[in-house]
Amino acid sequence: MEGNGSDLLTLRHSAAHVLAQAVTELYPEVKLGIGPAIEDGYYYDFDRREGFTPDDLEKIEERMRKIITANRPIVRREVTRAEAEKLFADEPYKLELIAEIEDPVLTVYEQDGFADLCRGPHLASTGQVKAFKLLSVAGAYWRGSEKNPMLQRIYGTAFPTSQALDEYIVRLEEARKRDHRKLGKELDLFSFHEEGPGFPFWHPKGNIILNEIIEHWRRLHRERGYQEVKTPMILNEALWHRSGHWDTYRENMYFVDIDEHTFAVKPMSCPGVMLIYKEALKSYRDLPLKLAELGHVHRHEKSGVLHGLFRVRAFTQDDAHVFCTPDQIQEEIIKVIDLVIAIYEKYGFKDYRIELSTKPEKRIGSDEVWETAESALHAALKAKGIEYAVNPGEGAFYGPKIDFHVRDTMRRSWQLGTIQLDFAMPERFDLEYIGDDGKGHRPVMIHRAILGSLERFVGILIEDCAGAFPLWLAPVQIIMLPIADRHVKYAEEVAGRLRAKGFRVDVDARNEKTGFKIREAQMLKIPYMLIVGDREEEAGKVAVRKREEGDLGAMPVDDFIANVENELTD
Ligand SMILES: [Zn+2]
Ligand SMILES: [Zn+2]
Repeated sequence: MEGNGSDLLTLRHSAAHVLAQAVTELYPEVKLGIGPAIEDGYYYDFDRREGFTPDDLEKIEERMRKIITANRPIVRREVTRAEAEKLFADEPYKLELIAEIEDPVLTVYEQDGFADLCRGPHLASTGQVKAFKLLSVAGAYWRGSEKNPMLQRIYGTAFPTSQALDEYIVRLEEARKRDHRKLGKELDLFSFHEEGPGFPFWHPKGNIILNEIIEHWRRLHRERGYQEVKTPMILNEALWHRSGHWDTYRENMYFVDIDEHTFAVKPMSCPGVMLIYKEALKSYRDLPLKLAELGHVHRHEKSGVLHGLFRVRAFTQDDAHVFCTPDQIQEEIIKVIDLVIAIYEKYGFKDYRIELSTKPEKRIGSDEVWETAESALHAALKAKGIEYAVNPGEGAFYGPKIDFHVRDTMRRSWQLGTIQLDFAMPERFDLEYIGDDGKGHRPVMIHRAILGSLERFVGILIEDCAGAFPLWLAPVQIIMLPIADRHVKYAEEVAGRLRAKGFRVDVDARNEKTGFKIREAQMLKIPYMLIVGDREEEAGKVAVRKREEGDLGAMPVDDFIANVENELTD
């Protein structure tokens, strides 16, 4: 981020006030909602019957420029509730906010006759807002609730310099091109339907990507002593009382009635795994016990926050639970970190940030247990020689955790993996193992997810590689382009040989010009095109075009197969 973070927030929040002033001057009938600074910019909500058109935005920007050039002071003023109510008598949304403020003294910021109810801080004058731009308009319910009126939200951004603004606009354009919702449609990977809002539908090509991710994930887990389990998607209400989800997570859960009993659709897999643990008596020799589950979980999210694959209501969590003794924590954490890094490297994610969150105010478990766990986490990270940040007091109430944030090629940061120690769940389910002293002991439980949600991860991958998947993930790896009808038979024959080797191959047998077929295969970002005509057929060769490198010339089919097999094992 450019400059000091709080300076930037102040700048953007002040730009939001300038936006609101411009809108009230141009459209006096408009009622004001709220206008905060947000990541990368700001917005302001307006109640107006018609939406704002691109022309309106241009007009508003022009007026904003005028307000900025006038360079009027932005003045903070403290007012009583009665004064505030009088000042905003025509602003029903502001009155609603005023009624909710408990403090008897309210603050108002004024510039050039325009006043806004606001805690601040703000710049000293409108002239200090320099490089700004309005970006888009979208409908937004007042306070995010469908029961409230729909307002018009204008998004904008502001930067300290016009160079920083220009760079941001370029990045935004690039991000738009890479938007996974757009590419998902163009590449025929997935769709959403009003019959299942927030529930992704995976098309054959998207499903191939999911399955390849899962296959790689499974192999690495098997190699590291994990055993995969599968627990039911629907479990009775009593289980969720016992796990604590009923108390803390009910709002996000779906319920169904079966034979007059209430059941819940699982929002996470842990409680089911607890029942597997308890099924047989465990001894210290059984530990560490590593149970992995690709659980299909459902979580209720408000319709307003759903966003492509990034925010869905059903997803596959790459979950695993490690049950161990307290003195195994450090070693197990090191092994989990190694696995996390191995998986990220497969996707080329080498730039990650790690955060350790420690003991919060409200917590369960003795100080001694927290001490042991936190020092084990510190020691594990230090043993790996990994730099990490500490978030004091930010751990979950049931244990400390380590989070992994990954940077993509656009330099955006994504929280993917998490390793959480849990002292609560083994307690609630009364888990035990028999120690070498012959007595019963409580095991430590480690929850961990590496990719988080597979659905979201595919969304991140799409934007990271702009839809040009690496060979191993590409839904179609090779496409055969016969030059004329008479070459289709040879193309099919080569495709058959490649498929027998396990490659995913299409044949474009349409009666179209080769140039047209090449352009289309390029749009679909297929890693290899094999063009075959008379010369290739006679020589038993294929003319190879590689996605990144272009024309590689003709080569015998066997050589091509050897090359791609090599590429896959790299
Ligand atoms: Zn303000
Ligand atoms: Zn868990």
